[in-house]
Amino acid sequence: MDSVEKAKKLIEELKENNHLKLRRSFGVGLYLFNLLKNRLSNSHLELLKKFDSMPFPKKVAILQEIEQALNKEELVPTVSFDGYPKKPIEKFFIPIESLKILDPKEKKLLKSLNIKDLYSALWYVPVRYEDRRLNTSIKTSIPGKAVALKVKVVESSWEPDAKYPISVLCEDGTSYLSLKYRFKDKRALLSFKKGTELIVYGKLMEYKGEKYMVHPELLKEEEAGKVLPFYNIRVKSAESMSAKLRHRKVRQAIQKLLEYLRYMPEYLPEELLKKHNLYRLPESLYFLHAPHQWDERLNTWDTPAHHRLIYEDLLLFQLALQLKRREIKSLRAPRLLRAEEHIQEFLRSLPFGLTQAQLRVLKEILEDVKQETPMNRLLQGDVGSGKTVVAMAISYAFAKEGYQSAIMVPTEILAYQHYENFKRFLEPLGVKVGLLTSSVKTAQRRSLLRHIREGNIQVVVGTHALIQEGVSFKSLGFAVVDEQHRFGVLQRKRLLEKSEEFFPHLLVMSATPIPRTLALSLYGDLDISIIDQMPAGRKPVITRLFFESEMEKVLKFIKEELQKGHKAYVIYPVIEDSPKLELKSAVKEFERWKALFPDRKVLLLHGRLKDEEKKRVMEEFKQDGDILVSTTVVEVGVDVPDATVMVIESAHRFGLSQLHQLRGRVGRSQLQSFCFLVVPDQMRYDQESLKRLKVLVQTNDGFKIAEEDLKMRGPGELLGESQSGYFGFWVANLQRERDRHFLEVCKKDAQELLEKDPYLERYPELRQVLFYRYSEGIIAPP
Ligand code: ADP
Ligand code: MG
Repeated sequence: MDSVEKAKKLIEELKENNHLKLRRSFGVGLYLFNLLKNRLSNSHLELLKKFDSMPFPKKVAILQEIEQALNKEELVPTVSFDGYPKKPIEKFFIPIESLKILDPKEKKLLKSLNIKDLYSALWYVPVRYEDRRLNTSIKTSIPGKAVALKVKVVESSWEPDAKYPISVLCEDGTSYLSLKYRFKDKRALLSFKKGTELIVYGKLMEYKGEKYMVHPELLKEEEAGKVLPFYNIRVKSAESMSAKLRHRKVRQAIQKLLEYLRYMPEYLPEELLKKHNLYRLPESLYFLHAPHQWDERLNTWDTPAHHRLIYEDLLLFQLALQLKRREIKSLRAPRLLRAEEHIQEFLRSLPFGLTQAQLRVLKEILEDVKQETPMNRLLQGDVGSGKTVVAMAISYAFAKEGYQSAIMVPTEILAYQHYENFKRFLEPLGVKVGLLTSSVKTAQRRSLLRHIREGNIQVVVGTHALIQEGVSFKSLGFAVVDEQHRFGVLQRKRLLEKSEEFFPHLLVMSATPIPRTLALSLYGDLDISIIDQMPAGRKPVITRLFFESEMEKVLKFIKEELQKGHKAYVIYPVIEDSPKLELKSAVKEFERWKALFPDRKVLLLHGRLKDEEKKRVMEEFKQDGDILVSTTVVEVGVDVPDATVMVIESAHRFGLSQLHQLRGRVGRSQLQSFCFLVVPDQMRYDQESLKRLKVLVQTNDGFKIAEEDLKMRGPGELLGESQSGYFGFWVANLQRERDRHFLEVCKKDAQELLEKDPYLERYPELRQVLFYRYSEGIIAPP
């Protein structure tokens, strides 16, 4: 009998006869503690520790709580692979290709899911589950839930004009159930001959006492009677295989690989497993791929098996982060000798004085670049707070002492804008600025690369092109990565490797205000500087919420602003109409705006335009454009000072932080600017969404908005859509509060582990997994 079963049985006995046995027993707490020490949470174990010295009524209450916990926590892996000879973990890094157990089609399928080896296949855990056990009857099933039922056809009928032409009446001995199908073709009836036995799976509905299912799935014997896992199958529309078949094939392939789990070693330190009551890896993986039991928590990734994987995911991340930080600290960077002097010179050349916040941050950075240890700093500040000027000042100081700077930004438009900006401020001071993007071609490119290599160009602004082969610097001393969320880990690393003699100082700039605690855990290897003040004279953008029926007011307002020679942005959530989403689209609405403003220059910008084209549109808008209809491509860093109106249609489709970023496109000068959030009229009653949007109306403080966003929707959006990809998580998802909690826990655990054992010598297999997961190295999360 398994220990949980034993404990439950004991508790049953203790309860009998009004707790007769409990009154007479000693040491029950200790016994239960030992029995359950790997099965209960710490808080419950604490209760058991104190149990024996408690008064009787307390004991009864605790037992009751433990019993409830056991009923909840019994979702434990019940298989045990103890006693099998374990293989070294590296044997699990064997490529899919070499797995004899799989046939060629299965290999191809797994590879199409980016699964490269046995280890990652085993970690490819299902994204959701369906309960297809046959443990209920029609009579006892509760309407509103999906159930699997074994039934027999009583009769079927066909009425071509009905909403559901095919209707099949079934029974299972306890009651009747009808199945309704939308099929028009009478031949579909062939599957429902009288007396046929079916296993149906679908949401059970009830209308006037009649139970029915609409389009239930007909299950094959093999798919019924169990909890069925569903994997992320990433179907592309061009796929020949149906989703259903693909699900089945992936499932089958992965089930085959479960064979190997019994030989898989546990490589996390025993003390950590104990400390957090974590299950072992092979057992956890087995449970997730082949759960023997149904529980809602499977679908919220909240079973102990999930916890085990999430913990490991985040622990590895923290270990990698902290090891990398240590490595950077051991490298040498060029140190600036007369930095203050140069900075003063640069500041004197500016048409404005820096804000207190800018000066403070500048000083923090200066302290870093005077050292031989490479700087590794995150500069956060709201859009328009003046981060770029700070980076400029520093790159000027580097140029004066003979070092080059590289500024890497995510898009061509931004690269071009930054280039213009840097040139405007730096070239009068004798600093040569270059622009390197992939649209710089052949001859021009060759000469540019030569100048960079020979050090004639001191500041290079560019896109990904900066980190490609063939780009080498004479003496790169300072690297700036702007809007880091768009860059992957590797790209930052490559930029830093562009310097041969030494390691450059790194400044990562971000306008995404990540709440500090989260930032500290995610960017544990970066020091953080924050510009929390706007340049003087900046008027906060006035934000208003409108329903579509009030659009007239917005239009009237835009007309007035255009009259003053100002410009307006209008943002849509999608490029083109799609029948599925009932959203207004940029392409379609562009026509409407042109018609509404026939004597104005209305331009269209979206992500599907070629880079050249985007650049041209932006230039034109900046020069003599009036209205720019666009998608979120204008989100990052775009700078058109005389744009004073930002209209965001279908505003409810955006996250708060994203809206805030968009709003940052206006209010970039002394002019009063406005942001109008427009939502459909039917949202009048959607208090939740309106409340969310009103946060923007009330505040301009990016950090406050980020906190609010975090509270309401988790940090997924703050961190960019593919945050997990960026940070290298496999199962962790910081949208879940528990995972964020684990992130903190793991940070401490990693610290303690490395303090005792800086090279993880006591845990060679853990180290192997760490290198396996982070072999490309992480300088930091992006
Ligand atoms: P960020 O990069 O943080 O979005 P920028 O550095 O691009 O902000 O600054 C936005 C605009 O404000 C630029 O046109 C810049 O020249 C100007 N600016 C920056 N700092 C100041 C300041 N202290 N006073 C006035 N204008 C400033
Ligand atoms: Mg900027």
